[in-house]
Order: sequence, then C-alpha cells, then structure tokens
Amino acid sequence: MSEKENDPPVPTPDEISQKLSDFLKENFGGAVDFTSMPGTPEMQEDNTGEEEVSKSVDLLDFNYRPRDIKDHLDRFVIRQDEAKKALSIAVCDHYNHAKYLRRLKEENPDNTTGVEFAKQNVIVVGPTGVGKTYLVKHIAELIGVPFVKADATKFSETGYVGGDVDDLVRELVQRAEGDVNLAEHGIIYIDEIDKLSSQGNSMGRDVSGRGVQTALLKLMEETEVPIRNPMDIQSQMQAAFDLKGGKAGPRTVNTRHILFIVSGAFSGLERIVRKRLSKGTIGFGSGNTDIPMDNELFRHVGTEDFIDYGFEAEFIGRLPIRVVCEHLAAGDLLEIMLNSEGSLLRQYEQEFAEYGIQAKFDHEALKVIAERAVDEKTGARGLLTVCERVLRDFKFELPGTAVRELKVDANFLEDPPAILEHYRKLGRQVTVEQAVKEVELFAAEFERQHGVSLIFDDAAVAAIGKRASAKASSALQTCNLLFKDFQFGLKLIQKNTGRREFNIGAETIEDPDAFLSDIVVKSYRDAETGKSADQPSG
Ligand code: ADP
Repeated sequence: MSEKENDPPVPTPDEISQKLSDFLKENFGGAVDFTSMPGTPEMQEDNTGEEEVSKSVDLLDFNYRPRDIKDHLDRFVIRQDEAKKALSIAVCDHYNHAKYLRRLKEENPDNTTGVEFAKQNVIVVGPTGVGKTYLVKHIAELIGVPFVKADATKFSETGYVGGDVDDLVRELVQRAEGDVNLAEHGIIYIDEIDKLSSQGNSMGRDVSGRGVQTALLKLMEETEVPIRNPMDIQSQMQAAFDLKGGKAGPRTVNTRHILFIVSGAFSGLERIVRKRLSKGTIGFGSGNTDIPMDNELFRHVGTEDFIDYGFEAEFIGRLPIRVVCEHLAAGDLLEIMLNSEGSLLRQYEQEFAEYGIQAKFDHEALKVIAERAVDEKTGARGLLTVCERVLRDFKFELPGTAVRELKVDANFLEDPPAILEHYRKLGRQVTVEQAVKEVELFAAEFERQHGVSLIFDDAAVAAIGKRASAKASSALQTCNLLFKDFQFGLKLIQKNTGRREFNIGAETIEDPDAFLSDIVVKSYRDAETGKSADQPSG
C-alpha cells in the first residue's frame, strides 16, 4: 500500500471549520466560538474577474432624472421635500458619473485615469422615525442597487470590539448575491453618525469615534476592501481553496462608486447654529430655544457647525450634500396613514383580512391615533406603537370567531377593553352556516337513535342560531336542550298514527313543549277518527 492511499481524504473548508469549532468548544467551552463573520459572502461561482458579466451593466441604462426619483419617493414618503430633492439630485449625479466613466472606459480603458469627481456622499440630519431610512431604501429599490444599513455605534476603530466598517462593503457584496461589480455601485447607509462626534464620546459612549471616522473616511474616499474578512479564518480558508480550485473571482471591492449616506439626530446642532448666527446679524435668537431643526435654519448650517459639534473636518468634508428631514406633526402622521403607499393602515387592514375580518378605520380615529403617536416622540414609528397597543388584544381574540368586521372609530379608542367585550359577545354569535350544519347533524343523529325525522325549515334554523348566540352556546347544544325527551312524545304519535316525519318551524323553537303536547293530543284524536296522519302538521 502506498503512502498516498493511507492519507485521509482532503477535508472541505466546512469540515475543517467543524473540526476547529469542536476543538475550541472542547477546550474553552462556550467562551470562544468559531463562526464565519457576517459579511463574508460566498462568491458567485461564475464570477471570473475581468470578464465578469454583471447586473451592474444595467447602470449604463441609468436614465432617471431627479424629478423621476422624487416622483417615486412621493408615493411613499410624506413631506421631507427638500431631502427628497437633494437626494434625488445626488443619486442622479452619482450614477450618471459612474455611467460616464464606464462609457469612457469602454471607448478606451486608459481614459478614466485623470477624471476628477467629487463624490456626492450625503449627510441627513433629522430625528428618529421621520423617513430617513425609508427614503434611502426606496431609492435603492428604484434604481436596483444593493443597500446596506448599519448603526455607527456598532463599529470600533479596530474592528475587534464592535464590527469592522469594511464588513459593510462585504455585506453589500452579499446583498448583490456575490456580484462584486454591482456591489461596487451600491449604497451604504449609516445611522447614528452623530454618536461618532467627540461630543458623543464625552457623553460616555464606548466607541472611539475619531478612529471610526478615519476608517469610514477611507471607505468614503476610495479603497480596496478584501472580499474575505482577514479576521475570519474560515473565510480565508475558503479563499485559499477557491484560489487552488481556480475559481477565484475579484479578491477586493473598490469603494470609489459606492454611495455613502449617513444620518443622525444631531440634537444640539440647532443650538450651535443659532448661537453662531446670533453673533452675526441674522435674527435667530440666542440659541437657548428648543425649536427643532427645520429647513429654514438648516440653510445656515455650515461645515464649521459640524466641526463644532465634534467632527473631524476631513470627515465632514467628504459629505458635501447636507439635508434635513423635518420633525413630523400630527397632521403629517395622519397624512402618512391616509396617503403613503406603504401606509401602516393598509398593513393592518391586510393583516385582519387574512382572518376574514374587515378592519375599518374612520377619519376621527385616525386623527386620534396620529395625535397619540406624536406623544411617543418616535416619529412615524409612534403610529405602530399606538396601533399595536390598542389593537393587539383584538388581533389575538377575534380571528376564528364570528366577527367579520372591526370598526375602529373614536369611540373605540376611548375604551378599547369595553369594545373588546362587545366584540367577544359578537364573536360568540353562531353564524347561519354553523347553525345549518349543526342542526343537520342533530337531525341525523335523532333519526338514527329514534327512527323519526325532524325537518327544520330555514326560520327554525335561524331561530336556533339566535337562541344559541344569546346563550353563548352552540346550535347543537341548543337543539339537544330544546328537543330533550322529545322522542317519547313522537314515538307515541308514531304508534297512534304511523307518522315518521315532523316539520319544525320557528314557532316550535319558541315553545317546543306546547308544540309536542299539541301534536300528541291531535294524534289521539286522529287515531280515534281512524285518520292515518302522515300529512304535514304544524
Ligand atoms: P428613520 O428616520 O429613523 O430612519 P424610518 O425611515 O426607518 O425612520 O421610518 C420608520 C417607518 O416609519 C418607515 O418604515 C415608514 O413606514 C414610516 N415613515 C417614517 N417617516 C415617514 C414619512 N415621512 N412618510 C411615510 N412614512 C414614514
């Protein structure tokens, strides 16, 4: 036997990782784990470097004008007109430039080297829940580029403690299903950027804001990010295997054409601007007022104010497009519910409809919901909080009951528990279909046991349903009670007259005993007069 034959088979990267993982677990318990870090995507198999065929070729067809993008955003995002405009322009400029470079490169691969372009990275200032993410998400969807969102607070300078900013780029590749070229034209959106300011630090945040600013700065300018995370052994092994197997695609992602949009609430920025302006001649008061940032004041926000706020000048310099998303008042929240295509209301209606319940919100109720949502101070997110609070029990209890319509009006919002009680009662109502089914069941069983048929007309079935609902009982149970011991009387009649079928109408349901004694008496009379009574009788 040769030595080669004795060699164990070459393990796959997965098998090696499993072995390592088991080893670590055995030696260190749960304290150390071995997993692939997020953002280390599997490469697309056919992604072969130079010749790659990419979805991003479509970017050459980028034909949107700023107005088209804003029109699209208008369908979903209420208000924020200035932000919509600025973002639409920035996005068009950004992708038109990428398209232009591509054209140049196609004409002559050396053409693009000297082309200057200041990237239109964007900073969005605005409180939480006013549509910042929503805007970016809809833009990315419209133009068909991958989009990644993260909070600045999760990063640390080194990547050891929190995440590594490079992971954002790797995540883009993942979102682009391994298409590096497409990822290189994606959008990275980073929220809570204000927490990276030195002001944020002094407020006790455990992030080295300045270091993260520098790391982000590098990404925003232009850098090559390794597709495989260098800190991730598994990922590195996969890369080595790919290389050996000859299926290695591009090993880095260039960030030159990635559009960066950062945002934050920047509370206190308005005070800095007011203070600066009050030193000049513009009448913006002393800076002690708590009026939130709006477009009017934002016109005056300059780079120096962001630096004052605690940002590095270079960092802010890389974010030349600055917009504000304004605070949303109750009227805006109402408008969102009524007119945004992504309205929460549609969502609720849809969710109830899945259980066959038509939820109807009247205008007054929506106004109350909007007002309560403002108190939550979480922007449009407050709408969800308020609706959830009011409707949760209904969503839990009503599905599967007889309730087919839920009317949410001002009255409803006054006292939801009382209204729920009302719907509970309604929910116990026996539906016509149920009553028909159960009465049929009862009649069949009665016939099987006693050899006589009870034939119920529609009015009788309806009366049974009604009686059952009133007693919070079922139609079957109601029949059992109503016709308890009926068989004895009916059997007497059968003996007297041979009759086997009995028609049951609504009046029988009203007073079954009277009905039974009537027909028993009649049957004796009929027997005496020798009348065979198989004719229908009341
Ligand atoms: P943030 O400003 O904190 O990024 P989001 O954009 O994530 O907030 O908003 C949360 C949700 O609230 C969105 O998914 C959307 O449903 C709703 N929303 C927020 N602002 C608006 C708006 N201006 N128009 C319509 N819906 C909005």
